[in-house]
Amino acid sequence: MLNAGIAAIMLDSGTLQQLGSLVHPTEELKEAGYVVTKLTQDELEQKKRCATCGVRIGKVRRMRDRQNRARQQQPQLANALPPRSEDSSASASGNATHPNDDNNARRNSVMRCHFHPGRVQLKAWTCCGKHLAEAPCTSKEDHDPPEEQDRTIQQRWQFHHTTLATRSSHRLAVAIDCEMGTAFDGDSELIRLTLIDYFSGETLIDSLVYPDVEMQHFNTRWSGITRREMEKSRRQRQCIMGRNAARARVFRYVGSSTIVVGHSAQNDLSSLRWIHHRIVDSYMEGGQPKEEDKPKEGGPVNHQKRSKHHPDGMSLKALAMRRLGRAIQMGNKGHDSLEDALAARDLIHAHIASLAQ
Ligand SMILES: [Zn+2]
Ligand SMILES: [Zn+2]
Repeated sequence: MLNAGIAAIMLDSGTLQQLGSLVHPTEELKEAGYVVTKLTQDELEQKKRCATCGVRIGKVRRMRDRQNRARQQQPQLANALPPRSEDSSASASGNATHPNDDNNARRNSVMRCHFHPGRVQLKAWTCCGKHLAEAPCTSKEDHDPPEEQDRTIQQRWQFHHTTLATRSSHRLAVAIDCEMGTAFDGDSELIRLTLIDYFSGETLIDSLVYPDVEMQHFNTRWSGITRREMEKSRRQRQCIMGRNAARARVFRYVGSSTIVVGHSAQNDLSSLRWIHHRIVDSYMEGGQPKEEDKPKEGGPVNHQKRSKHHPDGMSLKALAMRRLGRAIQMGNKGHDSLEDALAARDLIHAHIASLAQ
């Protein structure tokens, strides 16, 4: 059995070739939720939020598309459903809505603009006196145009290809794992980055990443990282400052021909806003992605989903136990991304060894 953390893998041309043969075709990566091209202007636009209630424009649009499709498929429902939202004059004339209609319930949650018109004072809304966490007291038919600048959206969301230049420090193959926290607006945000050399097992990067945005929390239960720890590492200048710096650090070791190994690594790469084409994913290698992990038809990929915790026996923890006889993620201090990166690498190596038999 492989010894966790220190076992080197023999670097021979056969192993490298076999690893290379496991690299997923781009179409397969896309299916599994990897971002394979830069986001278009329209996709970036959809990241913007209504200036009044904060809902994502893309979410509203997907909901409207879904409803329009349902309307086309079931014309008999057309009268029961509320009118197309684009047609706000018609809705203002007071079409009846069915209180029991699920579509209506969902429509009301996203397609109408729900908000508190007041301010927060002493943890209560001045408009209605409710606690600040209470549901909005006011709603209107249409959302407002976002106030976010293109530049801000671009900086936070645009993806970047691996740089083409080759460096002598680039490795043949690496394994990656990241930990994510939750940003002020509920989005996932990179907070720790681990990169190891696939063959030597050497730790290339293992660092906290100080987020670019305000954080709601650090998912401490999963990530094992506390706000206090993060602030301390910043004071001591021990963390990487921000996502761009983290990606730049990865590019010290990863060139366009480097093979990147990870478990459901679409989340890790997305948290770095990184597009790479030579990926070997131990989750995809272990079976087909489940339906809910695939991008929804017609909608952008859900970059946020943390699907490392597959409940279907395909979690890194379950696979490491089953295939490597290794117990990982055992402590109560959350995940250790170093332990996870090593497990993904060793799963792939075990797979290669089994192919050789
Ligand atoms: Zn709104
Ligand atoms: Zn209110």
